[in-house]
Amino acid sequence: MGVLLDHFLYRDGALFAEDVPIAEIARQVGTPFYVYSTATLLRHYQLFDEALEGLDHLVCYAMKAASNQAILATLAQAGAGMDVVSGGEYQRARAAGVPGERIVFSGVGKTAAEIRMALEGGIRQFNVESEPEMEVLNATALAMGVRAPVTIRLNPDVDAKTHAKIATGKSENKFGIPISRAREVYALAASMEGLEVIGIDVHIGSQLTDLTPFEVAYSKVAELTEVLRGDGHEIRRLDLGGGLGIPYARDNQAPPLPSDYGALVKRTLGHLGCEIEIEPGRLIAGNAGLLVSEVIYVKSGEDRDFLILDAAMNDLIRPAMYEAYHDIVPVIEPAPGTPPATYDVVGPVCESGDTFAKGREMPPVAPGDLVAFRSAGAYGAVMSSEYNSRPLIPEVLVKEDQFAVIRRRPTFDEMIKRDTIPQWL
Ligand SMILES: *Cc1c(COP(=O)(O)O)cnc(C)c1O
Repeated sequence: MGVLLDHFLYRDGALFAEDVPIAEIARQVGTPFYVYSTATLLRHYQLFDEALEGLDHLVCYAMKAASNQAILATLAQAGAGMDVVSGGEYQRARAAGVPGERIVFSGVGKTAAEIRMALEGGIRQFNVESEPEMEVLNATALAMGVRAPVTIRLNPDVDAKTHAKIATGKSENKFGIPISRAREVYALAASMEGLEVIGIDVHIGSQLTDLTPFEVAYSKVAELTEVLRGDGHEIRRLDLGGGLGIPYARDNQAPPLPSDYGALVKRTLGHLGCEIEIEPGRLIAGNAGLLVSEVIYVKSGEDRDFLILDAAMNDLIRPAMYEAYHDIVPVIEPAPGTPPATYDVVGPVCESGDTFAKGREMPPVAPGDLVAFRSAGAYGAVMSSEYNSRPLIPEVLVKEDQFAVIRRRPTFDEMIKRDTIPQWL
C-alpha cells in the first residue's frame, strides 16, 4: 500500500492494530467493534500537511467521516482544523478541544440556530451554499452585532466520476451556487453588512480516484478568483473541499497520493497568493479503521455458502448503500497452503440487503473465528444505526501497545429506556 500505511499487519499469523493483537481487544471488548490506529490517522494527516508545504494552509478534517472525540483530539493536537456540517458536529469538535478559529462550517441546510451557535462559539468561516442561507446568516450576524466570515461554495459543474450518491459537483446536485452565477452572488454578498466575504469554496465529491476532475474544478476556481478580484472582492482564502479516494481492494489501481494532489493545488492555484484550506475525510480515516466481527454460523445454501457474522448493515452500511467493496480478512491466518473458500458474507439483520459481499473468495473460517473488514474507518461507525434493536457497537483507539474504548457498547437497557410509553396507554 506504499505510503498509505495502515498499521494493521499480521505478526506470526495474527492480525495486530499497531502493537496490540486484535484478538486481545475482542476478548476484552466483545464483538463487533471498530478499532482505529492513531499512527495511521496522524500519518495521513501529515501527508496532506506536507503536500501543501510552502503554501499558507490548513487541513480541516471532514469529521463526518469518523467523528469520535478521541479521533478529533488526536488530529487537532497535530494541528488539524475541522470541517463540520451540523450543530452537533460543531459541538463535538469544540468538546474535543478544537478552537473555533479552526472550524469551518459546510452544508446546504444550516439553520439559524446552528449559525448563531457557531457565531457565539467562534468560527473560522461559513461555507455558504445558497442565497437564502446568505440572508439568514446576514440577519443573524447583524442581530448579534458581528460580521460572519464567509466563502461561497460554488458548483463548478464537474463530473467527479465517482458513485452517484457521493458526487456533489454537477449542476444537478443540491450543493453550492452555479459557478455561472458567481459574480452576481458575490455582489449580493458584498452588499450585506453582516457578511465578510473572504474567499471561494468547492467540494466536488468523494472517493475520487483520478485527479482530472480536481484539475478542471481548481482551474475554474483560479479563473474565477481573478474575475472576482477584478470586481473588487478580496479573495484571500480558497477552500478546496475533500474527496481524494482510497484503495479499498488490494488489487485496485492505487488512487493518487496526497503529494500528487498537493502538486496539483500548487500548479493550479499557487500563483494567487491565497490561503489554502482542504477538507479530507476518507483519506485520513478510511484505512485507519477496521470493523471486527465474529463468525456466528456457516450455513450451506443450495448453491452457495453463507458466512453469517455478528456485524450487520446497521454497523457498516457502505456495501448496502454504495455497493462498496471491503476486504474481509481472518484475524488469525490459516496455515500456509490452505485453499480459499467462497462465501456470501452476510449479517443477522432481516433484509436481503444485509450482504457485505457476494461470492467472496477468502480464507476459510469457522464459527467463533474473528474477521476484520479493512478500510472501515471512514463512513463506518458514523453511519451506524440501531436497526433491528442492535445497540451501537463500541469504538476502540490504539496507540502503540495501548488501547482504550473511546465509545462503549450501550447495554440493552440503556437502548430500550430511551422510549417512553405514554400514560394513557
Ligand atoms: C464529505 C465532505 C468532505 C469530505 O469528503 P471525503 O471524500 O471524505 O474526503 C469534505 N467537504 C465537504 C463539504 C463534504 O461534504
